[in-house]
Amino acid sequence: MSDTAFEIIRNLFYLLAAALFIFGIKGLGHPRTAVRGNLLGAAGMLLAIVVTLVDRQILGWGWIIVGLVIGTGVGVVVAVRIQMTAMPQLVALFNGFGGIASAIVAGAFVAKAADSRQVAFATIASGIIGAVTFSGSVLAFAKLQGLVSGRPNTNPLFKVGNAVSTLAALAVGYAFLMNPGLEWIYWGLFLIALVVGVFLVLPIGGADMPVIICLLNSYSGLAAAATGFVISNTVLIIAGSLVGASGLILTRIMCVAMNRSLINVLFGVMAEVGEGPSADEIYAGKVKSTTPEEVAMLFDGARRVLIVPGYGMAVAQAQHVVRDLANVLEAQGVDVEFGIHPVAGRMPGHMNVLLAEADVPYDKLKEMDEVNSTMEQVDVVMVIGANDVVNPDARENPESPIAGMPIINVDKAKTVVVVKRSLNPGFAGIPNPLFAADNCLMMYGDGKQAVLELVGALKAG
Ligand code: NDP
Repeated sequence: MSDTAFEIIRNLFYLLAAALFIFGIKGLGHPRTAVRGNLLGAAGMLLAIVVTLVDRQILGWGWIIVGLVIGTGVGVVVAVRIQMTAMPQLVALFNGFGGIASAIVAGAFVAKAADSRQVAFATIASGIIGAVTFSGSVLAFAKLQGLVSGRPNTNPLFKVGNAVSTLAALAVGYAFLMNPGLEWIYWGLFLIALVVGVFLVLPIGGADMPVIICLLNSYSGLAAAATGFVISNTVLIIAGSLVGASGLILTRIMCVAMNRSLINVLFGVMAEVGEGPSADEIYAGKVKSTTPEEVAMLFDGARRVLIVPGYGMAVAQAQHVVRDLANVLEAQGVDVEFGIHPVAGRMPGHMNVLLAEADVPYDKLKEMDEVNSTMEQVDVVMVIGANDVVNPDARENPESPIAGMPIINVDKAKTVVVVKRSLNPGFAGIPNPLFAADNCLMMYGDGKQAVLELVGALKAG
């Protein structure tokens, strides 16, 4: 086959792979089509890899098979053993590996930077973005895993470190542009960019973590796209751009959901924690506790019930008993819906995934805005392991660190029952005045056990 004919066929396959990526992402937009979308994306990636391997033949097949076997082995073990609650950490690591892979591939082709300004720019972009993504993601992993403190740190030294290392990276990047292809400058740039990544994530804690993970996800895509330009691989440019763009869109959605501006997140500016009243002052003498039997009686007189799950439902693995609760209530003629906050849990879509696993029908899951518009008509809201996402302080207290964050307004329902083990705070580390509200009852206990007892009481009644 002539070279031109082969090139045309290769590009047609790349086009097909790109189309599969796009249909895959479209499919992922809805739970009903998500599995198919995932398969389409994976098929596109397999096609892109096979075509690239046949096209390039830089390595012997032996090495490629060794890489495939090791990668698949690690991937299968991690996917089978990972706990749902540890998913965000895993996503952070995947982003980091993607970033460093892009930077290393660009480094392996560093001599090509002498070919043109364009390739030199792409090499610099790949080195900087890839390294920032790697060190930032590893640090995000360590914070979420509890290996490094997750508290926000407003030490001004971090801002100085951030500015100095960013300027140093830009200066060394310029030096590379003037001396394209010089390997030691590239790896020097890579090392400095690792420091930039550390300073980017170090000050960020608590409620900003999901935003930074989405942003790093976007960065990993941009690094891949830049490497695509370095090695002239069209499908890598397309796949990287898709990840970069979708990660950025998700970042924006997360920013809005957590009331953080992208500029603030990018430059690591934290919301200052105001000197608000202490938990003791808020709760003293006002918190009322209840029992599963009392809540069962409350449900007897209810016509509309809203279940609002949060991180605690994931910890307790209570999604199956929560579905049973919904089924029992529906069998008694109660209208049951689920109110899903975009950042409930520890990763975007966390609650949707858990409830889908428990076979809760998709049309029962309602978004925050939809449930808020009819909250006054809800007889009983059952909050299960959620805290920050139902904290009315976000709406009412401009001094609160989560001020302005959109919340599910459960306090506006007729009665609220909160299932959690204690009055301990959630991820943001702040007290929640909801627990002291007149219409709120606390049902203390582990999420799964408490709901199990409630279902038992409902059936007995
Ligand atoms: P929160 O972290 O605010 O609260 C979770 C609550 O669950 C805790 O107060 C805890 O109380 C309770 N809990 C823990 N274990 C159990 C259990 N076994 N049974 C019953 N309850 C339990 O969770 P939310 O979902 O309300 O809010 C998410 C928070 O996480 C937000 O601040 C968000 O910004 C942040 N975040 C979100 C991410 C995302 O992408 N979704 C990623 C990273 C952070 P107690 O100990 O008393 O039981």
